[in-house]
Amino acid sequence: MQITKELYSGKAKSVYETDDADRLVLHFRDDTSAFDGEKKSSLARKGEVNNKFNAFIMTKLEEAGIPTHFEKVLSDDQAVVKHLEMIPVECVVRNIAAGSICRRLGVKEGLDLDQPTFEFFLKNDELHDPMINDYHIRSFGWASEQEVAAMKALTFKVNTVLKKLFLDAGILLVDYKLEFGRFHGQVVLGDEFSPDGCRLWDAETREKLDKDRFRQDLGNVIEAYEEVARRLGVDLS
Ligand code: C5P
Repeated sequence: MQITKELYSGKAKSVYETDDADRLVLHFRDDTSAFDGEKKSSLARKGEVNNKFNAFIMTKLEEAGIPTHFEKVLSDDQAVVKHLEMIPVECVVRNIAAGSICRRLGVKEGLDLDQPTFEFFLKNDELHDPMINDYHIRSFGWASEQEVAAMKALTFKVNTVLKKLFLDAGILLVDYKLEFGRFHGQVVLGDEFSPDGCRLWDAETREKLDKDRFRQDLGNVIEAYEEVARRLGVDLS
């Protein structure tokens, strides 16, 4: 399989087409950003850590019966994935209140939710990823009713699998964002799962071990990602 051309370069990853129309290569870069790209930096080792972290999590999800685009690690910071037709929405599940829900609903960070909550956001930086609902998705034709149902069901299934995986490693899965796409008619998990797109707190101390360390200038960002990887047993060598 040969890389042919760059398809897209996002804030933290670049995507390449290959000579196989059904396969793409993801390049996890060291770049990081927050607040719709307003705050940017480059963090040494981030691309490699996130590539290996993502491969570990996607493999666990596949083992649990969740279809993902992940196929294999290609190099330290690259992976081969299925070429999905992406659905332009973000699916967020929260177990504990943090981030935007605290601002929107005036709740305190750290509140344990009675049950996990689900939110859709439109992927649109210019509009700052506004929150949308099932009806918007159907009305604007972004996805079908069946696809909406599949995205919700899969996002909650991910919660069941990963809450336990992290808790067994002494970590609370506070919230996370997933993106889905279509592959030959099936709804499949795309994008990545890494500490860039979720909140992870130490179960004892509630210390933040995710991208909030970058957003809030807490320091030791990649050291925290590596600590999570070490506790999960991710091979970073
Ligand atoms: O900002 P908010 O609290 O809504 O984020 C919820 C979760 O989704 C967090 O884990 C955050 O890192 C993730 N997220 C993301 N990309 C976005 C928006 C949120 O990875 N564009």
